[in-house]
Amino acid sequence: IESEWRPFREAVEGFMGRQWLGGPIIGGQLRQSGEPRAVTAPQDRRIQAGSVHWAGTEEVSEALDQVGQGFAGWNATPVDERAGCLERLGDLLEENLAELVALCHLEAGKTIQDSIDEVREAVDFCRYYAVQARKGIGQTQLGTTFDGRERQYRLEGRGVFACISPWNFPLAIFLGQVSAALVTGNTVIAKPAEQTSLIAFRAIQLALDAGIPADAIALLPGDGATVGAPLTSDPRVAGVAFTGSTETAQLINRALAKRDTEVVPLIAETGGQNAMLIDSTSLPEQVVRDVVRSAFASAGQRCSALRVLYVQQDVADRITEMLRGAMQEQVVGDPSLHSTDVGPVIDTEAQQGLLNHIEKMKRSARLIAQTPLPANAGQGTFVAPTAFEIDDIAQLEREQFGPILHVVRYKASDLDRVIDSINATGYGLTLGVHSRNEETTRHIAHRVRVGNIYINRDQVGAVVGVQPFGGQGLSGTGPKAGGPRYLLRFTREVTL
Ligand code: NAD
Repeated sequence: IESEWRPFREAVEGFMGRQWLGGPIIGGQLRQSGEPRAVTAPQDRRIQAGSVHWAGTEEVSEALDQVGQGFAGWNATPVDERAGCLERLGDLLEENLAELVALCHLEAGKTIQDSIDEVREAVDFCRYYAVQARKGIGQTQLGTTFDGRERQYRLEGRGVFACISPWNFPLAIFLGQVSAALVTGNTVIAKPAEQTSLIAFRAIQLALDAGIPADAIALLPGDGATVGAPLTSDPRVAGVAFTGSTETAQLINRALAKRDTEVVPLIAETGGQNAMLIDSTSLPEQVVRDVVRSAFASAGQRCSALRVLYVQQDVADRITEMLRGAMQEQVVGDPSLHSTDVGPVIDTEAQQGLLNHIEKMKRSARLIAQTPLPANAGQGTFVAPTAFEIDDIAQLEREQFGPILHVVRYKASDLDRVIDSINATGYGLTLGVHSRNEETTRHIAHRVRVGNIYINRDQVGAVVGVQPFGGQGLSGTGPKAGGPRYLLRFTREVTL
């Protein structure tokens, strides 16, 4: 509600003119040896939020030594104390909500509401993993063997974890990985996405303030080639938590496989080719509202976002007509305004890739609708939400990570063929279903191989602890982030 939102926006505005400075953090200290890079706002490239020094090769090695030495001490710290640090970090994130929202808004171009949700999700991750760790990590009594000795079972850290994260949830996913790795006893090298290093820098400063020892965590901003790849091929790294594109996950998988020491765990959350199925029993108004939100909220830059909408033939004309109307009404533009539905995409490279796809589709598919851009869109990296009609999901080569929707008509008798073609993409992240026929929804939910199914609702997101998120096949290895089994993968088991 706008009246509730306004005072909050004013608090955020207090931070808007600020110039933040970030860079590698090693041993608790900011390093400034690399050239600083300007951080500009995706919504208006003339706004500079600050600058970040990127890490060089020597800093990667130094950070690995530093957190390698810190491992024994941190792993021996009682789990209760480690969990306490996460809880204090959650409190500090809340105390600094306005600043973090401003950073998220300026660096990632998110709407103010999305930025608030982002910080809250990060807080939830910290608190949830603290609770989960207290319940299940550490030492438990197993029982007594035949010779009368008590046996114990312990879950402890594996060593140095590399946490490599994407820009689309620059605080929540970033801190979700880092907090899970830390609370289980690992020390961490955090490698944020190139586009969102400032907010990551601020988060690690707060983690240090919350009591995480300086030799338990290092931050290395930089690109995949200079920082990411060397981390994944270094024998000092005992595990990798990665969220990002399927292509990068495959590169990391290969790098880890080349190491001839132990088998190194990779926890990967990757891309999708997410579909939604709509049958003739569904409620059109609800369907269209949910489709628009699923495909275009956050400028389509959610990994859960809807990419391919399957509409049953009998209702397809009506649904596409209503979709056209709803898309005309969407507001694209300044993400600081309450009235804005769709903000910019992350950068010019992403924008260009999406515009190329739109141009290509215009030649081979039928355009259903395109939301108009505001007159001043040229200052930022905006892409007009666009919907095309295509014949089949197989026509799409790869995930288009932005506000582009593809619509396919299907006959009721072809339902299983549709499900097979969704499964055949190899991705398995999210699926939406709109139907009032319970048998149909049950049938689809059992046959389709995806990690997250959304029935008669929008296909948006995850809720820490309640709706854990993660994919299958090309979409990820599991276990699900924000779920009860996530922490286990960061640990090694010892019986003694
Ligand atoms: P990306 O793969 O380009 O980058 C992710 C991270 O990997 C960045 O920090 C990058 O610097 C690093 N990296 C790049 N090359 C590397 C290499 N060779 N070795 C090690 N690290 C390397 O992804 P992105 O563009 O930042 O994020 C968008 C993608 O993330 C989309 O595909 C989206 O679907 C996916 N995603 C998935 C989930 C999920 O939960 N499944 C959540 C968010 C985003």
